[in-house]
Amino acid sequence: MNPFGYVRPADEAAALDAGAEAGSEFIAGGTGVVDLLRLGVEKPARLVDLNALGWDKIERTPEGGLYVGALVKNSDLAWHPDVQRHYPVLSEALLAGASPQLRNMASVGGNLLQRTRCAYFRDVGVTACNKRTPGSGCAAMGGYVRMHAVLGGSEHCIAVHPSDMCVALVALDAVVHVRGPTGARLVPVADFHLVPGTHPEVESVLARGDIVVGITLPPSPFARRSAYVKARDRASYAFALASAAAALHLEGTVVRDARVAFGGIATKPWRSKEAEYVMRGEPATRALFERAAEVALREARPHSGNEFKVALAQRVLVRALSRAGGIA
Ligand SMILES: Cc1cc2nc3c(=O)[nH]c(=O)nc-3n(C[C@H](O)[C@H](O)[C@H](O)COP(=O)(O)OP(=O)(O)OC[C@H]3O[C@@H](n4cnc5c(N)ncnc54)[C@H](O)[C@@H]3O)c2cc1C
Ligand code: SF4
Repeated sequence: MNPFGYVRPADEAAALDAGAEAGSEFIAGGTGVVDLLRLGVEKPARLVDLNALGWDKIERTPEGGLYVGALVKNSDLAWHPDVQRHYPVLSEALLAGASPQLRNMASVGGNLLQRTRCAYFRDVGVTACNKRTPGSGCAAMGGYVRMHAVLGGSEHCIAVHPSDMCVALVALDAVVHVRGPTGARLVPVADFHLVPGTHPEVESVLARGDIVVGITLPPSPFARRSAYVKARDRASYAFALASAAAALHLEGTVVRDARVAFGGIATKPWRSKEAEYVMRGEPATRALFERAAEVALREARPHSGNEFKVALAQRVLVRALSRAGGIA
């Protein structure tokens, strides 16, 4: 492991100053950063510990939604009564992630910013990885791609975004609160992560020194009727092969509106507006959900070794919609 400095700012202004210095990297729960330091994938000059900043509250907003501080632990968010009651998809997604010990350490901000689990990215013995070393190539192309993306990839990178939580946040239209050297801004979570294109190393809209201070879950006609389904190699402690968050606004048995997002199959948490569109105004039946799933994966581009993800993601979505629609 490379030597690095460590600071623990006492307030936001000091954190912004420290974060803006070249070579700085934030640390919250450390469950992602410390792994990457040990592996030699990341070599920051200084860790800026955010844990003294007190952003660990979950509060109701005047509009009837929830504000969640960036330092709230994944387990506290998952088990919060308002989240369980009003945003079940989020609670289910969080509880489907990692292990209880990890969830007790992992923070909301860190989960949003966690890096891919692509095995080539995490192995510094592999030289070709555009995400780790821009312009070096991509070892996954023509390599072992069972876990890789079928949506949103480019010839430069097909690594999946690993988060479960973010998939639910996309389905819930969550908004990320960012503060940085140039001021404060709000970013819809669906726009927060970027597809790789020609620059896989740029993974989100954050600029140097930007900090996530929290997220808002807006009040939503979808949120209560929502579900998260995750297919993985083991029953727990495994990343998604394919996962889906589904939320439905029903009038009687008719779908007035819907939200659909996928994890495990795309380079960013993946919303399918096409699937949502085909369901609007239609009776909530298994046949409708199967049609939506087919449409959602129409643009899928599997690679040799992960073709199975297309059918798997479709089935996962049908199950999530069926649960959200009360017909499972
Ligand atoms: C064995 C294992 C299994 C796992 N399984 C799953 C799983 O199934 N599903 C899943 O979703 N996740 C899984 N994870 C990932 C885990 O959820 C993340 O490591 C965790 O959420 C990161 O949160 P953290 O607070 O520990 O972040 P840290 O490790 O502290 O930070 C992660 C990144 O976020 C940045 N960062 C942190 N906070 C902020 C902030 N407020 N503003 C700006 N940048 C910030 C850091 O600089 C760093 O780059 C697993 C992890 C491990 C080790
Ligand atoms: S898929 Fe992306 S992260 Fe994985 S080796 Fe290729 S460039 Fe690197």
